[in-house]
Amino acid sequence: MVIDLHCHSLHSDGTDTAGNLALLGAEARLTALCLTDHDTLGGIPDFLAMQPTVPVRLLVGTELSCHFLGRSLHVLGLLVDPADAGFQARLAELRGRREDRNRRMAARLAELGCPVTLEEVQAQADTPLLSRVHFAKALAAKGFVRRATEAFERLIGDDCPGFVPREELNPTEAARWIREAGGVPVVAHPGRFGGSGTFRWDEAMAELQRQGLEGLEGYYGEFRASEQKYFLALAARLGMVVTGGSDYHGGNKPGLRLGRGRGGLHVPDDLLERLEAQQRRGTYR
Ligand code: AMP
Ligand code: MN
Ligand code: MN
Ligand code: MN
Repeated sequence: MVIDLHCHSLHSDGTDTAGNLALLGAEARLTALCLTDHDTLGGIPDFLAMQPTVPVRLLVGTELSCHFLGRSLHVLGLLVDPADAGFQARLAELRGRREDRNRRMAARLAELGCPVTLEEVQAQADTPLLSRVHFAKALAAKGFVRRATEAFERLIGDDCPGFVPREELNPTEAARWIREAGGVPVVAHPGRFGGSGTFRWDEAMAELQRQGLEGLEGYYGEFRASEQKYFLALAARLGMVVTGGSDYHGGNKPGLRLGRGRGGLHVPDDLLERLEAQQRRGTYR
């Protein structure tokens, strides 16, 4: 029995409708699936509307970008309450910051000799929430790169000259927002976050736990077996809850399958009970 607690619809940077993800979850024989679009719960109504027709528990989440030790760290807000107006307002603020960043990134790309307008980027997206995935497609469509992956290698990857960071949350703030919305804050894909160089994940994770992060994604669609082993052991040592997911983005991240990742992913469903126990242990409500 497997679950998948991390995936994206076309409400952020995936290519499937939220409703289709529910169907894919059923096809993959998942017992639970959590939709975790970046900075939005926009896909959640369509996703939850599929609940009567699929034998998969459909769960609510989102993925927020934080700034931590000079890098970009992603935090999953799992099991948040989609009716929480305060949380919705906070997400809207994050989307505003993203729009500012996008304007500045378009200007920066023009300076680098690769002008793309926000209209051209929007033409690559089915959502108003534009991310670098859509910039990459626009850069390819205009012939500045041969394909979208090359845009990340040369222009808009985290260490590239055309990348403009967003004003990001700090982990403490993200954890508090998620907790106040009834969810559990979880470190997404540890070991896979922006920036190069060596990094002491054991120390960093202990600090993140002090800042309010309660779980870590110990199973991940792109982890090597050694990474999974390391992070599962670290979670056990620190007493953090373990989650797992594919980070499926449809055609925007080729080769990844819902519930399966690159093929070796298998997230055991008993993790969900522990996640829900952690949610009930919440201190804010
Ligand atoms: P943004 O939130 O606009 O900064 O865009 C971040 C998104 O771009 C991530 O969620 C990924 O979907 C994608 N992304 C970031 N870095 C890469 C990369 N090196 N290769 C492919 N996709 C990437
Ligand atoms: Mn993404
Ligand atoms: Mn992420
Ligand atoms: Mn993700």
